[in-house]
Amino acid sequence: MAFCINCGQMQADGTRFCRFCGGQQPGEQLIARLRMEAEAIRFQMQQMQAQQMQNMNYGQQQNQQRRW
Ligand SMILES: [Zn+2]
Repeated sequence: MAFCINCGQMQADGTRFCRFCGGQQPGEQLIARLRMEAEAIRFQMQQMQAQQMQNMNYGQQQNQQRRW
């Protein structure tokens, strides 16, 4: 059993639209997709952070070489 995210009325499982207010319900597929997108964004952030760390290390090495 599920409840409308808009008006809070009880909904049958798998209902896509509330029969009381017509509000669209987040189905399991949508929740799964959102979860996957959040996971993908987190992965991208990690990649970016790793790349920034590499760039920083590279820049420091460059500076050291220039100083000599
Ligand atoms: Zn509703």
